[in-house]
Amino acid sequence: MDRIAEELTKLKLNNQFRTIPDIESKSDGKIVVSGVEYVNFASNDYLGISTKSDLREEFLSSANDMLLSSASARLLTGSSAEYNELEKTLADIFGKERALIFNTGYQANLGVISTLAGKGDVVFSDKLNHASIIDGMQLSKGDFYRYKHLDYDNLENLLESKRGEYKRAIIVSESVFSMDGDIADIDRLIELKKKYNCMLMIDEAHAFCACGKTLAGLSYGKEADIITATLGKAVGSFGAFCVSNKQIIEYLINKARSFIFSTSIPPINIAWSNWLLNKKRDYIYEQKQKLEHLTKAVHASLKLRGIDTVSKTHIIPLVIGENDSTVKVSEQLRSMGYYIPAIRPPTVPQGSSRLRISLTADCKVKDFEQVIQVVNNIL
Ligand code: PMP
Repeated sequence: MDRIAEELTKLKLNNQFRTIPDIESKSDGKIVVSGVEYVNFASNDYLGISTKSDLREEFLSSANDMLLSSASARLLTGSSAEYNELEKTLADIFGKERALIFNTGYQANLGVISTLAGKGDVVFSDKLNHASIIDGMQLSKGDFYRYKHLDYDNLENLLESKRGEYKRAIIVSESVFSMDGDIADIDRLIELKKKYNCMLMIDEAHAFCACGKTLAGLSYGKEADIITATLGKAVGSFGAFCVSNKQIIEYLINKARSFIFSTSIPPINIAWSNWLLNKKRDYIYEQKQKLEHLTKAVHASLKLRGIDTVSKTHIIPLVIGENDSTVKVSEQLRSMGYYIPAIRPPTVPQGSSRLRISLTADCKVKDFEQVIQVVNNIL
């Protein structure tokens, strides 16, 4: 057997083989997969925006002359007024000098890290940071160290022993962790970045428009040097961005290969992000508040049942452990009308396969409680 066939067989044997689900439609907290409707607990559309047909219709009625392709990278002919407006809006929301739109969060993290961490530089990254951060470090010509998840004493030990060997140093962390819903101690990270003369980069992918007092996630008003986030989750659009000072953004425009060498997002999509963040900001705040109330109720319910969780947010992991039992629980829930796919390695560490419940403003507490009851009965 050749290596490809061998590896595919191994994935199947380990219950780790992935297939693309046959998704037919999504609306108001529901998802139709292979002809069956489920309650959707697996969406990053945290405010429920992407499936609201009234919003879409209102936007499209004013957007019929928008281009559906940018046909080029930004530095050639792929830019437009919509881009400038969105970048200005994002810089304002985060209270930073400038923003730069990337096609995806994956490309933003890949580009920022591989560009800023050059030869002789170093990155210190939380062990549970997203794959795009890991891949950015691997692509970079610098070195990197991964500190134990949320263990800032471990980070400080690494800084103490390694920082002196390098020129530029960057500490990178997500604010809300994507698979656990726990949160970084940004104040501590700022203390360490100052003490050891590092830059601090925060990935706000899961907090932007979903957590914190403003729309800017959890690092708002704090001294993070670089922030990345995506428009494809709570904002209900597509794309991503980095905000920072003018110099860093100019550097990225000139050096970040994932920005330079890729056709930019179609103007209509940029206009949709603009329209939501500018014209529908009150609605975003309303939905965000709904999500916050729901998150509070769900955490209160977990506490009442004596279920401990590391989560402090709308992302709630139900860690089961092995792949096969996780898949079985996921299938059982599916047979009862709940869509919560099993999350397995390499997305999460070996032995920590889980159901990742992501709450959205359209979810109902009673559905969550039903899921918890089922999982409790099985385990
Ligand atoms: N950062 C984090 C923390 C993420 O969870 C994700 C996506 N799951 C990304 C970056 C990548 O964003 P995008 O989907 O826009 O590529």
